[in-house]
Amino acid sequence: MLDVSKIRADFPILSRQVNNKPLVYFDNAATSQTPQPVIDVIVDYYSNYNANIHRGVHTLSQEATDKYEIARQTIQTHFNAKHAHEIIFTSGTTHSINLVANGFSALLKKEDEIIVSALEHHSNIVPWQMLCERTGAVLKVIPMNLEGELIMETYDNLLSDKTKLVFVNHISNALGTINPIEYIIKKAHAVGAAVLIDGAQSCPHIKPDVQALDVDFYVASAHKVCGPTGVGMLYGKEEWLKKLPPYQGGGEMIAEVTFEKTTYADLPHKFEAGTPNICGGIAFGAALDYMNNIGFDNIASYENELLAYATEQLSTIEGLKFYGTAKHKTSVISFNLEGIHPYDVGTILDKLGIAVRTGHHCAQPIMDFYCIPGTIRASFAFYNTKEEIDVLVEGVKKAKMMLS
Ligand code: PMP
Repeated sequence: MLDVSKIRADFPILSRQVNNKPLVYFDNAATSQTPQPVIDVIVDYYSNYNANIHRGVHTLSQEATDKYEIARQTIQTHFNAKHAHEIIFTSGTTHSINLVANGFSALLKKEDEIIVSALEHHSNIVPWQMLCERTGAVLKVIPMNLEGELIMETYDNLLSDKTKLVFVNHISNALGTINPIEYIIKKAHAVGAAVLIDGAQSCPHIKPDVQALDVDFYVASAHKVCGPTGVGMLYGKEEWLKKLPPYQGGGEMIAEVTFEKTTYADLPHKFEAGTPNICGGIAFGAALDYMNNIGFDNIASYENELLAYATEQLSTIEGLKFYGTAKHKTSVISFNLEGIHPYDVGTILDKLGIAVRTGHHCAQPIMDFYCIPGTIRASFAFYNTKEEIDVLVEGVKKAKMMLS
């Protein structure tokens, strides 16, 4: 059981007013809020040991290096990676995906096939299209049904010995669908393809075990799990990370540089060119510690309660249509009011202090599938309450009245 009022006291932003109303923050799928223990870690870094890492003999540099590498181990433990050097710090999910896509340029040939899903965020579509343009590989798509679930029979038929890579998100940001990644990974491996799972939306709700999943790559962003923006991670199996060439050249990622030839550093540094987001990496570790202290089982069961309550309450509003009604989903609700543009509803909700996201959620193919410009998306976190959902429901009713 969660003590939600105690948890809410950890988040200073939750007590602010927006447009003279108490903030109701339901845009968690875009970015989660930051608790005081994580803010304290950020302040402590810049107040007490801000220094560049890995290359200094002085005390501050050693302290910063130690904390950064401890954060890497925290992330390793959280995801149950076999080695700390299988965790690469990146600037976020988008960077992680581009790193892998760039690496595969060297490994793919014309007519090899890459499979993505109809439920992807643009950051899990565009880098693969760019990869196909560079290599002549062909992009195939696992289609979805009206409920917002991937159609696994078609996936089975898309797989062949031409398939080299499969990329699917664990949870859809636009609809909240939890995809059957265990099945997807197993089937891909049976034809010898590698699998990258985009965990940007799953990590706030689920603790993934990359070894149990036997996944080749898993990517995530800190800002979705109570950490800061501009930092994230790539997990890659050691054998894959050794095979992929470096993404960016620069300091930190080399073993030796001469004008004739450069040799690269070992993992993980081979993929970490330049001064990283040191404070961000340390705060990422602190954010995972914070969430683990609350417990992911507790988080998931409370958020499921919020999802059920919100679905029930919103469905009493006539003319409200849900998008994404999958059997397995997380606390994301996408909906529209008949005949009303989602942006107009979002604007009225903002006047009432309610933060929701409106638009295509960087998933235009999903909106095209439903023939709509976008949706209103309310996404709940473990610090939200049923009382806040009541405020949302009243707000949606008010918006409907004003805009009809
Ligand atoms: N994939 C999914 C499923 C997402 O929800 C997001 C963020 N909305 C991303 C990728 C991109 O994450 P970031 O912007 O942190 O790189």
